[in-house]
Amino acid sequence: MVDMPARRATAFAVAILVVAACETVPLTGRHQFLLFPEGQEVQMGVTAYRDVLKKGRVSADPALNDQVTRVGHRIAQATGRNDYHWEFKVLDDKQVNAFCLPGGKVAVYTGILPLTRDDAGLAAVLGHEVSHAIARHSGERLSQQLGLQLGLVGAQLALSGRDPRMAQLGTTALGALATGAILLPFSRAQESEADHLGLIYMAKAGYDPTAARDLWVRMSQSSKGQKPPEFLSTHPSDENRIKQIETWLPEARQYYQPTTPADPTTPGAYWYFCPSANDYYPTVQTCPEAWVKVPPRS
Ligand SMILES: [Zn+2]
Repeated sequence: MVDMPARRATAFAVAILVVAACETVPLTGRHQFLLFPEGQEVQMGVTAYRDVLKKGRVSADPALNDQVTRVGHRIAQATGRNDYHWEFKVLDDKQVNAFCLPGGKVAVYTGILPLTRDDAGLAAVLGHEVSHAIARHSGERLSQQLGLQLGLVGAQLALSGRDPRMAQLGTTALGALATGAILLPFSRAQESEADHLGLIYMAKAGYDPTAARDLWVRMSQSSKGQKPPEFLSTHPSDENRIKQIETWLPEARQYYQPTTPADPTTPGAYWYFCPSANDYYPTVQTCPEAWVKVPPRS
């Protein structure tokens, strides 16, 4: 006779596997195994984002906010994910750090800005971070963790017979997992993929991808002889990484079209103004607020 908790655990595992899907990462074409629909990751991203913003100090500096939203929206547009509710915040914090949570929730710490230096350097950081979200790396980590836990819980249940305490274990393990997993560090393979995709997105957004190589060189120089910045502890930087970026540069440059600053006074063309990005765009793509259509000048 099969005991009930074990049967329930098996049913749960089967249910999860039934909804699991094999997805493909954009541009790299890598196949990945995901246990959750993207909407669930996005929901966790929103919750984690609100939490970080509540605990941190959101910068009110208009110049910094302007730069981060302007560059951020260009990168967001380049990804083609118009369905994400993109949000860009600057956190007044000396940590050398930045992140993008599932669903396009981005934060840049003021501590990283001396290293990014200009729009192109910032585009390199944002391109990399946004790529983690686009390639659903958090969902992948979460799926791996859950797969391990399911195996473990299933085994414990099978061994435990009818012990009702064990029946609780599944739920508890899953709960703990869901809160922590969204912020888990990425694997080296995921870091490489984010570097690769990031170069392409920044190039598509109109920034010279060479700036990414220069940024990582500055990053590794800044960490010499002292404690590496937080960004480096989660983003391992070494000669291999810089070499790898150099091998991808020719590919990324094919997407690179240097853009002149948007000119809403171009005769005969409609432009769209996004208030939060404080910038004009030739087409409507991503803007968390309503676009303002600017009529063509005759
Ligand atoms: Zn990364």
